[in-house]
Amino acid sequence: MLFSGVTIPLRPITPTRLQAKGWARVGRPGAHLLRRGAWYPVVRISSSHIVVLDVNRRNVPVDRRFLEIRYHPPERWSIVRCEPREIQRVGRIFPLTYAVCPSCRHRQAFGAETRELACERCRKTAGLAWDELS
Ligand SMILES: [Zn+2]
Repeated sequence: MLFSGVTIPLRPITPTRLQAKGWARVGRPGAHLLRRGAWYPVVRISSSHIVVLDVNRRNVPVDRRFLEIRYHPPERWSIVRCEPREIQRVGRIFPLTYAVCPSCRHRQAFGAETRELACERCRKTAGLAWDELS
């Protein structure tokens, strides 16, 4: 038989993260549904002002003006300072300032002197981006 013993190697499916054209996060609350401080993979930049992001495996177009874009994977926790009305929206008591995990986007509280934080969810340990506090 012609094809006996021939195995066609399957192309491994590369996770979106590895194909990302960059990473983006929103700096301030606005007309978008993204969580502040969380980095999302860039799927494509479709025009001069719209960037499509991978938000939990869904492609979401976002106005570029809301975004901070970088081209290497995030390595540090984002620090987010919350407005009281945002805390109401989250729907539970949450500290005014929290950190967002660079790996899994988990939100976590931290102490004032914290330089490095271990994620309760994915166990990643990373430094806090104090110098990027907005
Ligand atoms: Zn995490």
